[in-house]
Amino acid sequence: MAAEVLSAAGVGVTIYDRMPSVGRKLLMAGRGGLNLTHSEPLAQFCKRYGGASERLAPVLEAFPPKALIAWAEGLGQPTFVGTSGRVFPRAMKASPLLRAWLKRLGSKGVAIRARHDWRGWDESGDLIFARDTGEIVRARPSATVLALGGASWPKLGSTGAWSKILSARGVDVRAFRPSNCGFKVAWSETFRTRFEGAPLKSIAVSFGGRTVRGEALITRQGIEGGAIYALSADLRDAIAAQGTATVEIDLRPEFTEAQIAAKLERQRSDQSLSNLLRKAINLPPVAINLLREAHGASLAADAPELARQVKSAGVILTGTQPMERAISTAGGIALDALDEGLMLRALPGVYATGEMLDWEAPTGGYLLQATFATAVVAARALLQRLEG
Ligand SMILES: Cc1cc2nc3c(=O)[nH]c(=O)nc-3n(C[C@H](O)[C@H](O)[C@H](O)COP(=O)(O)OP(=O)(O)OC[C@H]3O[C@@H](n4cnc5c(N)ncnc54)[C@H](O)[C@@H]3O)c2cc1C
Repeated sequence: MAAEVLSAAGVGVTIYDRMPSVGRKLLMAGRGGLNLTHSEPLAQFCKRYGGASERLAPVLEAFPPKALIAWAEGLGQPTFVGTSGRVFPRAMKASPLLRAWLKRLGSKGVAIRARHDWRGWDESGDLIFARDTGEIVRARPSATVLALGGASWPKLGSTGAWSKILSARGVDVRAFRPSNCGFKVAWSETFRTRFEGAPLKSIAVSFGGRTVRGEALITRQGIEGGAIYALSADLRDAIAAQGTATVEIDLRPEFTEAQIAAKLERQRSDQSLSNLLRKAINLPPVAINLLREAHGASLAADAPELARQVKSAGVILTGTQPMERAISTAGGIALDALDEGLMLRALPGVYATGEMLDWEAPTGGYLLQATFATAVVAARALLQRLEG
């Protein structure tokens, strides 16, 4: 996106990427539906970045969701607002967008050098790139925009290896932590074997006074999915402080406890608990067995208590899933290490954008929006510097 702004202003741009092609994580993001941004009011949107919200607000105002939507549509990718306000390209995938975008960048003279792994600067100040052939390539641009990503899904290119290079140059880089990630749960062997891969649909998950409605997925090691990701920053920090965190899962959020109790009471009392829960409130096997995991021998036989348990199945999370599987990462370049135009204070003429920076946000389009917005702001500041 920085290349787009710079090339549109007539600046010569070369993009270097360590992978054989660019935009691999963007393509992966499109696999489950490319959630470009969110349609909620900007003031509310800006609050999604936790501790970084205040610092990112002017950046998001400079390139807000409506600008991102216009950009995507300008590339021939009409968008739509889905349920819950999320914005997607109608094609859902990232590939048509990326194809059209690369074509436009090419037409503006942007050169792409794939398989160039940036290794830092040499003693003369040149950028150094290592090729897989062993060859070392050097470059001395007027300015540099770093857009090297966080440290999740390293096989797509973003390994976070840049953190050592920048730390050695006096840039404050915070340790990476998984964000929008799954968590470990000590499921019983029976539950794990039977329900690995099973979705828990239309649930509500609560932690620390916050409740999120959505879906979760049982994994071999634990639990993941949208409703869990939305709470993942708080859960991760609680686990780091206390060793575990317990989420309360409401398996039937559309009914009150009293409504569930009444539905249970209306059933014949001589049937098995599983049949009762299935017939009365349509709980699928995974949810019924999750209740057993949560409440064990204390799973109630009387309707009011069972209704309470359906509304609060406690699941103990014992750790985060590895960073390699997280949607995004927290940590990276401290925002104080950057000036307003996202230039590194320790390295004049070098800008940093996207997930490299120390912010995190839930899924919902907030990750791509901030990534694009930081790139636009950095590129505009760079243009001013070049003009100056
Ligand atoms: C499965 C999945 C689904 C997602 N879905 C969504 C979604 O729907 N909506 C959303 O908003 N976000 C989503 N995200 C997050 C989003 O994709 C990222 O936040 C975004 O791609 C970050 O962009 P970036 O440019 O900062 O970094 P990246 O996209 O990670 O790009 C960094 C680039 O830098 C290159 N690079 C790294 N180190 C070097 C080096 N030393 N030398 C040369 N090149 C290097 C990499 O090869 C890579 O091409 C998803 C992420 C995943 C993993």
